[in-house]
Formats: sequence, structure tokens, C-alpha cells
Amino acid sequence: METLEREDPVAKEVSHDTFRNTISIVEKDGHRKWIYPKKPKGRFYNARTFVSWILLIILFGVPFIKVDGNPFFLFNIVDRKFIIFGQIFTTQDFYLFGLLMISVFVSLFLVTAVFGRVFCGWVCPQPVFLEMVFRKIEYLIEGDYMRQMELNKSPWNAKKIFRKGLKYLIFFSLSFLIANIFLSYIIGIDELWKIINEPVSQHLTGFIAITIFTLFFYWIFAWFREQACILVCPYGRMQGVLLDKNTTVIAYDYKRGEPRGKLTEKDAKGLGDCIDCNQCVVVCPTGIDIRNGTQLECINCAVCIDACDSIMDKINLPRGLIRYDSMEGIRTGKGFKWTPRVIGYMSVLLILLSVTAYLFASRKDVDVNILRTPGLIYQNQGDDKVSNMYNFKMSNKTFSEIPLTFALSGAEGEIRLAGSEFSLKPMEIHEGTLLIVIPKANIKKLNTPVSIVVSGNGKVIDEVKTTFIGPPN
Ligand code: SF4
Ligand code: SF4
Repeated sequence: METLEREDPVAKEVSHDTFRNTISIVEKDGHRKWIYPKKPKGRFYNARTFVSWILLIILFGVPFIKVDGNPFFLFNIVDRKFIIFGQIFTTQDFYLFGLLMISVFVSLFLVTAVFGRVFCGWVCPQPVFLEMVFRKIEYLIEGDYMRQMELNKSPWNAKKIFRKGLKYLIFFSLSFLIANIFLSYIIGIDELWKIINEPVSQHLTGFIAITIFTLFFYWIFAWFREQACILVCPYGRMQGVLLDKNTTVIAYDYKRGEPRGKLTEKDAKGLGDCIDCNQCVVVCPTGIDIRNGTQLECINCAVCIDACDSIMDKINLPRGLIRYDSMEGIRTGKGFKWTPRVIGYMSVLLILLSVTAYLFASRKDVDVNILRTPGLIYQNQGDDKVSNMYNFKMSNKTFSEIPLTFALSGAEGEIRLAGSEFSLKPMEIHEGTLLIVIPKANIKKLNTPVSIVVSGNGKVIDEVKTTFIGPPN
């Protein structure tokens, strides 16, 4: 990704261009470079830890929340049942789901245009789990980055086997826990409970799913790590087009910091505030040097701010050499500016949310779809009646059973179901066929407009307009 300093002559002057030809996680020979970030500390790291704990409590707690015995959230892709904030969505609500997804993407674009990749550093489950759970355990068992490096280079002995064994055992157990929670979002906590408590033979699919998820999460957090953000995540790859010079990012104030150099030579040589201590680099979990400008690898974790602030405190200089700011802000010293891009995203989002809210509010409890059976015209029912066949699909978007009745309107006749009347069970999607039967004497034209009135619990749910084909009398 091209850095934003390119536009600025001062930045161009100070740019250390070798970083453009390398990726922080790849060695010169093409092998993976394992990142050993220094254990971070500071106010942003503490704040992120606090936010992470809240997010983790929500993530682990939500599957247990029930409203009237029903899940609060469920993403059952297999059975096509979705519950979001206690509201049922079926496949017939796909347009709403689509609108909601588009709104989420536009919100993300908006937040990114204003605050950069703040979602990655503060909210995304990948860095939250990696930096706030797995990495903390690693520091606890193997020590800080230097000790980790030493341990990895040291020969296998009892100490190394114990530390590595313990770490990976905990990593695996955590991955197993995350896999269970992940599955509970798909099948619900009750089904998960059955998989845990009942013999494996009765829940082979569930058992296989948990095993696959466990291995996947273990692979991600024990080995793949920051590569997910740098190489795989599509959102990360899109930063180049989502950010601009007015976006607030984690930025190095090159005007204040350059030319960088040793503290002892600062006054003599008229150097900037950066004492080239490299602390902002060694703490970076993606292994980059933020002094080279905004880079694709930066996940906005802010630990380089903490690292630099602690150095500034030690050398009695003001904090904020690395800070949340835009490149334009650093260049001009001015604060946030409303740009047409931000206003555009906000307008689109407002329209999208209004349309979604309207469609959601006008949603019915039961979705009714009735269509004439393709390929059929009409059938004679004895000598004096004619019938048309229709296919119907009903979905119940409530947690209650709804008994349904059908009535014909617009012509003298009757509706015959391929059973008798029926009830839609909670969240059930029911497909079937029905016949409209009309005495020949009542058919006046080839195409008779009719309506099928569907009622439930004594209330009209829907009135579907269709046509009845029959030989005119
Ligand atoms: S450059 Fe700073 S904010 Fe970006 S990933 Fe590295 S440490 Fe985090
Ligand atoms: S931590 Fe601050 S002073 Fe040290 S190298 Fe980074 S920017 Fe310069």
C-alpha cells in the first residue's frame, strides 16, 4: 500500500524507503518471520484490555441469553433459522438481511474513513483473542519477547517441553471453548448442551463440527496469527481505498520527530524528538515501523503510542509523537475535517437504515407466498366444477403456533387444502398445495381475478391476489 507521506515533501525527505520492498512478516529468503512483540503496557493497552473483556463477556454470554425460553441470537444456516435481538428472520427476509449487511458495510466504511482501522484494533475478534487472550498467556508462560526468542532457540529440555506443552495445552483448551461457543451461535446453546452430554454417536455431525472449529481456532491463534490480518482479511486489504489523508490513523508526527537520532546528539545536531529508540517497533504485533507512515499491516492497536509516550515521559518531552491523527492534521496542525466522502457515507447510511427500519416495522408475523402451480391450467371436478392448483409457502416468524385458515374472495367457490386446516409451528416454514374450486356456473370469463384470504388467530394475515383460469360459462 502506498503511504500517505508521499504527498508531503517533508515526509518524502524522511521516508526510509526500504520498507516498501518488504513485508514485515516475511524474511528476505521468503520464509515466515515470526513476530515477537514486546509485552505492551500503557493507557491505550489498558483501555483495550478493558474493552476486550467487555466484548468477550458479551461474546461468551449472548448464547446463554433467552427471551421467553427462546434464543436471543441464532444463526442457524443449516436449518435457515435466524434470530437477531430476539427477532426471527427467515429466508423470505433475505432482502432485510441483505440491507442490514449493506448497512454494516457502509458503517464500516464510514468509521474507517473517519477513524481508520479502529475496528481492527479495538473490536475485531481476531486481534481481541490473539492480543488479549492468547498473547497474554504466552507472556505469562514464556516471558517477554526476549525470553520467548531465547526459549525458541534453546535445545529441547525439560523446561522447554514443560513451557511449550503447557502453553499449547491451554491454547488447545481455549480453542475448544471458542469452538463450542461459536457452534452455539449456529445451533443454539440447548443443542450444544445435548452434544456435550449425550453419546458422540448421537451427534456425530456436531462432534465433527466442534473438532474442525477447535483445530481451526488453534491453528489461527497458535500459528497463523497476524497473517490473518495482513494476508487474508478482505477488510484489511481494502484499507488502501478506504483511507485518505483526512482519516484519523495511528500516525507518527514526522514534523516533530525528524530528523531522528540519539538523545545525546539532539541539541548539538538540532535533531527532532524521535530518539530512534525503536520501542515503537519492538512492541508492534505486526512487526512494522509506524514512522514509515500508514501501512497495510497496521491494525491500529495503539501499543506504539503507549511505547513512545513512555519514552517521551522518560526524556521529559510532551507525549503524542505517535498519536491518533490524520496525515493532513500532522501536516497542517488542524483537527478533524468533514469531507465529502464522510458526508456521502453518512447520507447513504441514513437512507439505508431508514429503509431497513421501515421494511422491518412493516414485516408480517407470517410470510405468505401463493403461486399458481406451473404447467397446469385447470382441472374438471366432476361435471359442474373446475379447480386450479396453487403452491404455497408460509413461514411463521413468531415463537407461537399459529392456526391458519384460508378463504376465497372475489368469486363464489371454495378452497381445498391437501390436508385440512393446519397450524404453523413456531419458526416453521411450511410448503404445500391448495385447490380453488369454483362451480362452472360461476365462471364468467377465462381469467377470473380472485383473492385468497389467509387468517390466523382470528385476524387476516394476508390477502393474496391471483387469477383463476376456467372455461367461461
Ligand atoms: S504500527 Fe502501532 S498501531 Fe499499527 S499495528 Fe503496529 S503497534 Fe499497532
Ligand atoms: S518510540 Fe518514539 S522515540 Fe522511540 S523510535 Fe519510536 S517514535 Fe522514536
